Amino acid sequence: MDIQNSLSFLAGITNLALGFVVWSRGRKNTLNALYSLVALSVASWCFSVIPFRSAVDPAASLLWSKILYISPISIVTSFLFFNFTFLCQERSSRFSYLLPLAPALGILGLTLWPEMVIQAVLHTSSGEKQIVFGPAYPIYFIFIIAYFCWSFIILSKEYFNASGIGRMQIRYVFFGTFISANLGMITNLILPTLGIFSLNWLGQILTIIMSSFIAYAIVRYRLLDIKIILKRTLVYSMLLIITFSVYVFMILFSQNTLGDKSEPTFRMFLSALLVAVGFEPLKRFFQRATDRIFFKGEYDQKLLLSRLSTMMRNTINLEKLCKDLTYTLMTKLTAKKMAILLVEEESPFVIIGAQEGFNEPTLALSSNNPLIEYFNIQGIQKELLVYNEIAKQSEEDPSDRDLTVLIREMEKLSVTLVGPIYIKGRLTGLFFLDDKRSEDIYTEDEFSMLEIIFSQAGTSIENARLYKRVQEQMEELKKNQSEQLMQSAKLASVGELAVSVAHEINNPLTGILGFTSLLLSEMPPDDPRTKDLKVIESEALRSRQIVRNLLDFSRSHGSKKEPIDINGVIRNTLTLIQYQAKTSNINIVEKFAKDLPLVQADADQLKQVFINLIKNAFDAMPKGGMLTIETTTLPEKPLMLNGTSLHESPSEEMVMIQFKDSGMGIHPDHLQNIFDPFFTTKGRQMGTGLGLSISYNIIEKHGGRMEVESELGKGSNFMIKLPALSHQGSRNV
Ligand code: ADP
Repeated sequence: MDIQNSLSFLAGITNLALGFVVWSRGRKNTLNALYSLVALSVASWCFSVIPFRSAVDPAASLLWSKILYISPISIVTSFLFFNFTFLCQERSSRFSYLLPLAPALGILGLTLWPEMVIQAVLHTSSGEKQIVFGPAYPIYFIFIIAYFCWSFIILSKEYFNASGIGRMQIRYVFFGTFISANLGMITNLILPTLGIFSLNWLGQILTIIMSSFIAYAIVRYRLLDIKIILKRTLVYSMLLIITFSVYVFMILFSQNTLGDKSEPTFRMFLSALLVAVGFEPLKRFFQRATDRIFFKGEYDQKLLLSRLSTMMRNTINLEKLCKDLTYTLMTKLTAKKMAILLVEEESPFVIIGAQEGFNEPTLALSSNNPLIEYFNIQGIQKELLVYNEIAKQSEEDPSDRDLTVLIREMEKLSVTLVGPIYIKGRLTGLFFLDDKRSEDIYTEDEFSMLEIIFSQAGTSIENARLYKRVQEQMEELKKNQSEQLMQSAKLASVGELAVSVAHEINNPLTGILGFTSLLLSEMPPDDPRTKDLKVIESEALRSRQIVRNLLDFSRSHGSKKEPIDINGVIRNTLTLIQYQAKTSNINIVEKFAKDLPLVQADADQLKQVFINLIKNAFDAMPKGGMLTIETTTLPEKPLMLNGTSLHESPSEEMVMIQFKDSGMGIHPDHLQNIFDPFFTTKGRQMGTGLGLSISYNIIEKHGGRMEVESELGKGSNFMIKLPALSHQGSRNV
């Protein structure tokens, strides 16, 4: 078999295989059957050319030429019926549906009729066969062209009316066949009509390229990616046309200069060689040309991938990352909607990372949403959920409840693509996409691109999340620190003021008290002025107490710090107020930790703090109540980033002492002020407003913190945290 016959044979086999695959995928489906019929007709056309070319006997040549010319009748007719069915073209009756069969049968009759379409086959001196056409050949010629045109006209009309998947399919059928049919008509119908038979071997070979693309599309692109097929079809068809032109040029050149002595195979070899040399540059040129002419506005996937991955590497802000990713992908893919949702482990909420194009201000999704549950299976990484695909699967197996639930969920959210974002096998988020604005569907290449992008996005999201957490902790830390600094500053300035004022007041007070005592001692007890003097004396004494408190507060005391057991200090303090507790009907509950570490502190100062807090608690429970005093050990939580502590020293143990009362609580408006000096709600007679500020000051000087939680009407909890001495110093209590 020579090269031409081998290629025709290959074309026949490819078409046969394609027809079989399509038929076996839907045996009862008319559309599949009709497509297989088209493929079978093309195969028979490819096969019949071989014996036609090889036959030596004129009668055999004539017979095979008739078979060769019958195949196109079958091709155009089956293709027309395929299109009727494919486009669901309604016919008023079965008769009108089958009407186009009549001309086809007529032409078949004419072709089989002796000397009507084909009169004879001539063997030329160059070995080529020339067909002498009969009087009915023009009818045959018009019929083939008319039926092809009919098909392409209804296809293109439907194409403009259709949308979504239907439109894609039409485009696919249209372009998949259009180029091969047109080129085939030129080489095998128009040129032979003009007496040029030397190129009619090309028609069959063209079908190989087209069928390969269709087969490739079925296998690789699930029949979805028309654009890629189309692009490649166009590029390779143009390459073929170039080969073809070179070949024609070679014929003309050899006929004129060499007197046509060269072998046809040699000519083909030479032209193929020429094309092979220029193949790559030509291919690149055509690829760019098709992109520019037919796919203007299309995006370059590689460029997009590289841009997005740079963006993801450089963005550590979680919101910005999600927003940029959503915006860029939505614009490039021309999607109607897109959203990125973030799933937190053990959190019942799904956080919306970013959303664009949705009507709802914020998508509401809980972590037990079927879509999340579908992807969130430990150890299993699932692929994208494509609405069209699962809808088709569900049609085939309506009993699959899980699919129905997923479909309903996607419809509710009105999205057609849901993809997971995994990090180390753990679901960390989801992304949603709706159809493209053009109603086109996503290509397999786009699916792969999305998978690559979101596998990288997983890592970036995780990093951004960690960064956000650390930032929040830093903010918290800063806030606490600044609050404490402000409090310290306030106390320090009050301290300075107190020292100067206290000395100024102390002297006159001593005078007032001294003279009052003198007057009282000189005055007879029944003197009516004694009462007034007593008031002066008690008020002066009260003022002196305030001044003393002030001085205590400001004095930097040469405090004597030593390792002390907090539980012991509290017990000591309680002995002082036990009586008052009993008379005030207050029940004191002790919850002391057994293995409490020691703290480095001044026991007297701490006692003063504890007395202040206990007295305040008593004041808050005028009708009695319960005061719980609890001591615990706190491991100070170090801030962690990727397993590394942000503190210089890794972890510091603290001793926590809580005073929880069941009293009236503190009004939220007052909470910020209670540590301020002179803030009191107890009235001038009862309170000085210095107890808490002094206590705060003492605790701070011990390197500790004092905090409060309070609920109006329920009670307050004053918490003191003091740094523990290292464990060597601790002992059992
Ligand atoms: P004083 O007790 O002289 O008013 P403090 O500085 O000790 O001054 O307390 C300031 C204010 O804080 C109190 O007036 C009171 O309003 C509020 N307060 C303190 N402890 C408690 C508590 N256990 N329950 C309710 N309010 C409290």
